[in-house]
Amino acid sequence: YISQVIDGKKLAEDVLSQLKTDIEKYVAQTKLTPKLTAVLVGKNAASESYVKIKMKAAKKVGIATETVRCPESVSEDDLLKIIHELNANPKVNGILVQLPVPNHLPERVVCNAVAPEKDVDGFNITNIGRLCLNLKTMVPCTALAVYHIIRHIGVQTLGKSAVVCGRSKNVGMPIALMLHSQGGAKGGGLDATTTICHRFTPQNELAKLTKSADIIVSAAGVPKLIRGDMIKEGAIVIDVGMTRLLDETTNKASFVGDVDFDEVVKIAGYVTPVPGGVGPVTVAMLLKNTFRAAFIQQNPLYINMI
Ligand code: ADP
Repeated sequence: YISQVIDGKKLAEDVLSQLKTDIEKYVAQTKLTPKLTAVLVGKNAASESYVKIKMKAAKKVGIATETVRCPESVSEDDLLKIIHELNANPKVNGILVQLPVPNHLPERVVCNAVAPEKDVDGFNITNIGRLCLNLKTMVPCTALAVYHIIRHIGVQTLGKSAVVCGRSKNVGMPIALMLHSQGGAKGGGLDATTTICHRFTPQNELAKLTKSADIIVSAAGVPKLIRGDMIKEGAIVIDVGMTRLLDETTNKASFVGDVDFDEVVKIAGYVTPVPGGVGPVTVAMLLKNTFRAAFIQQNPLYINMI
Protein backbone atom coordinates (compact mmCIF):
# COMPACT_ATOMS: atom_id res chain seq x y z
CA TYR A 1 0.00 0.00 0.00
CA ILE A 2 1.45 3.39 -0.90
CA SER A 3 -0.39 6.44 0.34
CA GLN A 4 -1.29 9.50 -1.53
CA VAL A 5 0.87 12.31 -0.19
CA ILE A 6 -1.16 15.49 0.21
CA ASP A 7 0.51 18.47 -1.44
CA GLY A 8 -0.31 21.24 1.03
CA LYS A 9 1.55 23.85 -0.98
CA LYS A 10 -0.56 23.15 -4.04
CA LEU A 11 -3.77 23.10 -1.97
CA ALA A 12 -2.81 26.44 -0.45
CA GLU A 13 -2.01 27.94 -3.84
CA ASP A 14 -5.45 26.98 -5.11
CA VAL A 15 -7.14 28.59 -2.10
CA LEU A 16 -4.99 31.70 -2.40
CA SER A 17 -5.58 32.20 -6.10
CA GLN A 18 -9.36 32.00 -5.57
CA LEU A 19 -9.01 34.38 -2.63
CA LYS A 20 -6.99 36.83 -4.73
CA THR A 21 -9.79 36.93 -7.31
CA ASP A 22 -12.43 37.42 -4.59
CA ILE A 23 -10.44 40.20 -2.96
CA GLU A 24 -9.91 42.00 -6.28
CA LYS A 25 -13.66 41.97 -6.81
CA TYR A 26 -14.29 43.22 -3.28
CA VAL A 27 -11.75 46.04 -3.64
CA ALA A 28 -13.28 47.09 -6.97
CA GLN A 29 -16.75 47.23 -5.41
CA THR A 30 -15.97 48.78 -2.04
CA LYS A 31 -12.75 50.73 -2.72
CA LEU A 32 -11.54 49.23 0.56
CA THR A 33 -8.49 47.04 0.98
CA PRO A 34 -8.71 44.31 3.62
CA LYS A 35 -6.01 44.72 6.22
CA LEU A 36 -4.31 42.29 8.57
CA THR A 37 -2.27 43.55 11.51
CA ALA A 38 0.08 41.29 13.43
CA VAL A 39 1.25 42.08 16.93
CA LEU A 40 4.67 40.66 17.67
CA VAL A 41 5.96 40.80 21.23
CA GLY A 42 9.66 40.34 21.88
CA LYS A 43 12.24 38.73 19.64
CA ASN A 44 11.34 35.08 19.26
CA ALA A 45 13.02 33.77 16.09
CA ALA A 46 10.25 31.26 15.33
CA SER A 47 7.53 33.90 15.81
CA GLU A 48 9.42 36.34 13.60
CA SER A 49 9.56 33.80 10.80
CA TYR A 50 5.88 32.78 11.16
CA VAL A 51 4.72 36.41 11.01
CA LYS A 52 6.93 37.05 8.00
CA ILE A 53 5.46 34.05 6.13
CA LYS A 54 1.89 35.11 6.96
CA MET A 55 2.41 38.73 5.93
CA LYS A 56 4.13 37.81 2.69
CA ALA A 57 1.24 35.54 1.74
CA ALA A 58 -1.26 38.26 2.71
CA LYS A 59 0.38 40.79 0.40
CA LYS A 60 0.30 38.29 -2.45
CA VAL A 61 -3.49 38.05 -2.32
CA GLY A 62 -4.03 41.79 -1.99
CA ILE A 63 -4.38 42.12 1.78
CA ALA A 64 -2.64 45.16 3.30
CA THR A 65 -0.41 44.28 6.22
CA GLU A 66 1.24 45.85 9.20
CA THR A 67 3.35 44.36 11.97
CA VAL A 68 3.24 46.15 15.30
CA ARG A 69 6.28 45.28 17.37
CA CYS A 70 6.47 45.55 21.14
CA PRO A 71 9.49 45.02 23.35
CA GLU A 72 9.75 41.76 25.31
CA SER A 73 9.20 43.81 28.48
CA VAL A 74 5.91 45.43 27.36
CA SER A 75 3.43 45.72 30.21
CA GLU A 76 0.04 44.03 30.10
CA ASP A 77 -1.67 47.45 30.10
CA ASP A 78 0.40 48.76 27.21
CA LEU A 79 -0.18 45.64 25.12
CA LEU A 80 -3.94 45.76 25.80
CA LYS A 81 -3.94 49.42 24.83
CA ILE A 82 -2.33 48.57 21.48
CA ILE A 83 -4.91 45.84 20.87
CA HIS A 84 -7.81 48.13 21.81
CA GLU A 85 -6.55 50.78 19.41
CA LEU A 86 -6.45 48.20 16.62
CA ASN A 87 -9.96 47.06 17.57
CA ALA A 88 -11.17 50.65 17.20
CA ASN A 89 -9.35 51.30 13.93
CA PRO A 90 -11.83 50.78 11.06
CA LYS A 91 -8.97 50.27 8.59
CA VAL A 92 -7.83 47.13 10.42
CA ASN A 93 -9.97 44.07 9.64
CA GLY A 94 -7.93 41.26 11.14
CA ILE A 95 -5.73 41.24 14.23
CA LEU A 96 -3.40 38.44 15.17
CA VAL A 97 -1.26 38.42 18.27
CA GLN A 98 1.54 36.00 17.53
CA LEU A 99 1.79 33.41 20.32
CA PRO A 100 3.52 32.63 22.59
CA VAL A 101 3.59 35.95 24.41
CA PRO A 102 6.25 36.31 27.15
CA ASN A 103 5.47 34.63 30.47
CA HIS A 104 4.58 37.82 32.35
CA LEU A 105 1.63 38.40 30.00
CA PRO A 106 -1.56 36.38 30.57
CA GLU A 107 -2.24 34.71 27.20
CA ARG A 108 -5.96 34.29 27.85
CA VAL A 109 -6.46 37.97 28.67
CA VAL A 110 -4.48 38.96 25.56
CA CYS A 111 -6.53 36.66 23.29
CA ASN A 112 -9.78 37.94 24.80
CA ALA A 113 -8.77 41.54 24.17
CA VAL A 114 -8.97 41.08 20.39
CA ALA A 115 -12.45 42.03 19.16
CA PRO A 116 -14.29 38.82 18.15
CA GLU A 117 -15.05 40.13 14.65
CA LYS A 118 -11.35 40.88 14.05
CA ASP A 119 -10.06 37.73 15.75
CA VAL A 120 -8.70 35.93 12.68
CA ASP A 121 -6.96 33.29 14.83
CA GLY A 122 -10.24 32.36 16.51
CA PHE A 123 -8.70 32.45 20.00
CA ASN A 124 -11.10 34.93 21.65
CA ILE A 125 -13.29 33.33 24.33
CA THR A 126 -16.47 34.30 22.44
CA ASN A 127 -15.31 32.66 19.25
CA ILE A 128 -14.16 29.51 21.05
CA GLY A 129 -17.50 29.39 22.85
CA ARG A 130 -19.35 29.72 19.56
CA LEU A 131 -17.24 26.93 18.06
CA CYS A 132 -18.13 24.70 21.03
CA LEU A 133 -21.80 25.44 20.39
CA ASN A 134 -21.45 24.66 16.68
CA LEU A 135 -22.40 28.24 15.79
CA LYS A 136 -20.85 30.12 12.91
CA THR A 137 -17.67 31.72 14.14
CA MET A 138 -14.07 32.58 13.36
CA VAL A 139 -12.54 29.10 13.47
CA PRO A 140 -8.83 28.63 14.38
CA CYS A 141 -6.74 28.33 11.22
CA THR A 142 -5.19 24.90 11.86
CA ALA A 143 -8.63 23.38 12.42
CA LEU A 144 -9.81 24.97 9.17
CA ALA A 145 -6.74 23.59 7.41
CA VAL A 146 -7.39 20.06 8.66
CA TYR A 147 -11.03 20.41 7.60
CA HIS A 148 -10.02 21.66 4.16
CA ILE A 149 -7.60 18.77 3.66
CA ILE A 150 -10.16 16.15 4.70
CA ARG A 151 -12.77 17.71 2.43
CA HIS A 152 -10.25 17.80 -0.41
CA ILE A 153 -9.57 14.08 0.04
CA GLY A 154 -13.31 13.73 -0.32
CA VAL A 155 -13.98 10.68 1.84
CA GLN A 156 -17.14 10.29 3.85
CA THR A 157 -16.40 11.12 7.50
CA LEU A 158 -19.86 10.61 9.04
CA GLY A 159 -19.69 7.78 11.55
CA LYS A 160 -15.97 7.17 10.93
CA SER A 161 -13.55 7.06 13.82
CA ALA A 162 -11.03 9.82 14.40
CA VAL A 163 -8.19 10.19 16.89
CA VAL A 164 -6.64 13.56 17.74
CA CYS A 165 -3.29 13.54 19.55
CA GLY A 166 -3.01 16.77 21.50
CA ARG A 167 -5.53 18.77 23.50
CA SER A 168 -4.11 22.29 23.36
CA LYS A 169 -6.90 24.85 23.42
CA ASN A 170 -5.64 26.54 20.26
CA VAL A 171 -4.89 23.52 18.10
CA GLY A 172 -5.86 20.01 19.29
CA MET A 173 -9.17 20.96 20.86
CA PRO A 174 -10.58 22.98 17.93
CA ILE A 175 -9.60 20.15 15.57
CA ALA A 176 -11.41 17.63 17.77
CA LEU A 177 -14.44 19.95 18.03
CA MET A 178 -14.66 20.14 14.28
CA LEU A 179 -14.18 16.41 13.73
CA HIS A 180 -16.83 15.31 16.23
CA SER A 181 -19.50 17.94 15.64
CA GLN A 182 -22.58 17.90 13.52
CA GLY A 183 -22.21 18.48 9.81
CA GLY A 184 -24.67 19.10 7.00
CA ALA A 185 -27.14 21.96 7.18
CA LYS A 186 -26.92 22.20 10.97
CA GLY A 187 -23.21 22.93 11.24
CA GLY A 188 -19.80 22.67 9.72
CA GLY A 189 -18.62 19.56 11.56
CA LEU A 190 -17.51 16.19 10.23
CA ASP A 191 -19.68 13.83 12.31
CA ALA A 192 -16.80 11.50 13.20
CA THR A 193 -16.56 9.55 16.46
CA THR A 194 -13.64 11.40 17.96
CA THR A 195 -11.16 10.43 20.65
CA ILE A 196 -8.77 12.97 22.16
CA CYS A 197 -5.38 11.73 23.37
CA HIS A 198 -2.81 13.73 25.29
CA ARG A 199 0.46 13.46 27.16
CA PHE A 200 -1.05 11.15 29.77
CA THR A 201 -2.42 8.67 27.25
CA PRO A 202 -0.17 5.60 27.64
CA GLN A 203 1.71 4.81 24.44
CA ASN A 204 0.14 1.33 24.12
CA GLU A 205 -3.33 2.82 24.59
CA LEU A 206 -2.58 5.48 21.96
CA ALA A 207 -1.40 2.77 19.55
CA LYS A 208 -4.57 0.74 20.14
CA LEU A 209 -6.75 3.75 19.41
CA THR A 210 -4.85 4.94 16.33
CA LYS A 211 -4.72 1.39 14.96
CA SER A 212 -8.50 1.32 14.64
CA ALA A 213 -8.90 4.95 13.51
CA ASP A 214 -9.98 5.99 10.02
CA ILE A 215 -8.59 9.50 10.58
CA ILE A 216 -5.58 10.39 12.73
CA VAL A 217 -4.65 14.00 13.38
CA SER A 218 -1.50 14.54 15.38
CA ALA A 219 -0.86 17.90 17.05
CA ALA A 220 1.44 16.90 19.89
CA GLY A 221 4.79 18.33 18.89
CA VAL A 222 6.45 14.94 19.49
CA PRO A 223 8.62 13.74 16.57
CA LYS A 224 7.94 10.13 15.51
CA LEU A 225 4.93 9.84 17.85
CA ILE A 226 2.93 8.15 15.08
CA ARG A 227 4.71 5.07 13.67
CA GLY A 228 3.82 2.78 10.83
CA ASP A 229 2.67 -0.07 13.09
CA MET A 230 0.12 2.25 14.76
CA ILE A 231 -1.84 2.83 11.56
CA LYS A 232 -4.71 0.98 9.94
CA GLU A 233 -4.17 0.33 6.26
CA GLY A 234 -5.75 3.11 4.19
CA ALA A 235 -6.21 5.55 7.09
CA ILE A 236 -5.97 9.32 6.67
CA VAL A 237 -3.01 10.67 8.65
CA ILE A 238 -2.75 14.42 9.11
CA ASP A 239 0.39 15.78 10.71
CA VAL A 240 -0.09 19.09 12.50
CA GLY A 241 3.09 18.67 14.55
CA MET A 242 5.82 21.22 14.02
CA THR A 243 8.94 20.75 16.06
CA ARG A 244 11.55 23.34 15.22
CA LEU A 245 15.06 22.00 14.98
CA LEU A 246 18.05 24.29 14.84
CA ASP A 247 21.17 23.08 13.05
CA GLU A 248 23.97 24.17 15.35
CA THR A 249 26.60 24.46 12.66
CA THR A 250 24.58 26.30 9.99
CA ASN A 251 22.16 27.98 12.47
CA LYS A 252 19.35 27.10 10.05
CA ALA A 253 15.93 26.11 11.38
CA SER A 254 13.96 23.18 10.02
CA PHE A 255 10.71 21.54 11.02
CA VAL A 256 9.72 17.95 11.70
CA GLY A 257 6.22 16.67 12.29
CA ASP A 258 4.80 14.05 14.69
CA VAL A 259 4.47 11.36 12.06
CA ASP A 260 7.20 8.93 11.06
CA PHE A 261 6.56 9.76 7.44
CA ASP A 262 8.74 7.06 5.83
CA GLU A 263 6.95 4.31 7.76
CA VAL A 264 3.44 5.72 7.62
CA VAL A 265 3.54 6.47 3.90
CA LYS A 266 3.68 2.70 3.26
CA ILE A 267 0.48 1.98 5.17
CA ALA A 268 -1.83 4.99 5.27
CA GLY A 269 -4.26 5.91 2.51
CA TYR A 270 -3.37 9.59 2.70
CA VAL A 271 -0.66 11.37 4.60
CA THR A 272 0.43 15.00 4.90
CA PRO A 273 4.17 15.77 4.91
CA VAL A 274 6.03 18.24 7.13
CA PRO A 275 6.95 20.71 5.78
CA GLY A 276 4.56 21.25 2.88
CA GLY A 277 1.41 19.77 4.39
CA VAL A 278 -0.85 21.43 6.95
CA GLY A 279 1.41 24.50 7.36
CA PRO A 280 0.81 26.28 4.06
CA VAL A 281 -2.91 25.46 4.18
CA THR A 282 -3.08 27.01 7.67
CA VAL A 283 -1.62 30.26 6.33
CA ALA A 284 -4.16 30.24 3.49
CA MET A 285 -6.96 29.80 6.05
CA LEU A 286 -5.69 32.78 8.05
CA LEU A 287 -6.07 34.93 4.96
CA LYS A 288 -9.51 33.51 4.24
CA ASN A 289 -10.49 34.44 7.79
CA THR A 290 -9.09 37.94 7.24
CA PHE A 291 -11.14 38.45 4.12
CA ARG A 292 -14.19 37.06 5.85
CA ALA A 293 -13.59 39.47 8.74
CA ALA A 294 -13.38 42.39 6.30
CA PHE A 295 -16.55 41.28 4.56
CA ILE A 296 -18.47 40.89 7.79
CA GLN A 297 -17.33 44.28 9.08
CA GLN A 298 -18.58 45.86 5.84
CA ASN A 299 -21.89 44.00 5.98
CA PRO A 300 -23.36 44.35 9.47
CA LEU A 301 -26.25 42.12 8.46
CA TYR A 302 -23.79 39.26 8.47
CA ILE A 303 -22.60 40.02 11.97
CA ASN A 304 -24.14 36.79 13.24
CA MET A 305 -21.84 34.93 10.91
CA ILE A 306 -18.82 35.51 13.08
P1 ADP B 1 0.11 22.98 20.12
O1 ADP B 1 -0.16 24.37 20.52
O2 ADP B 1 0.76 22.84 18.78
O3 ADP B 1 -1.09 22.10 20.22
P2 ADP B 1 1.25 22.30 22.70
O4 ADP B 1 2.67 22.04 23.05
O5 ADP B 1 0.52 23.42 23.33
O6 ADP B 1 1.22 22.37 21.10
O7 ADP B 1 0.40 21.01 23.02
C1 ADP B 1 0.87 19.73 22.82
C2 ADP B 1 -0.24 18.77 23.11
O8 ADP B 1 0.20 17.46 22.78
C3 ADP B 1 -0.68 18.72 24.57
O9 ADP B 1 -2.08 18.73 24.62
C4 ADP B 1 -0.13 17.39 25.08
O10 ADP B 1 -0.95 16.80 26.08
C5 ADP B 1 -0.11 16.55 23.82
N1 ADP B 1 0.90 15.49 23.89
C6 ADP B 1 2.16 15.58 24.30
N2 ADP B 1 2.77 14.38 24.25
C7 ADP B 1 1.87 13.51 23.78
C8 ADP B 1 1.88 12.11 23.51
N3 ADP B 1 2.96 11.38 23.73
N4 ADP B 1 0.74 11.54 23.03
C9 ADP B 1 -0.35 12.29 22.80
N5 ADP B 1 -0.43 13.60 23.03
C10 ADP B 1 0.66 14.22 23.53
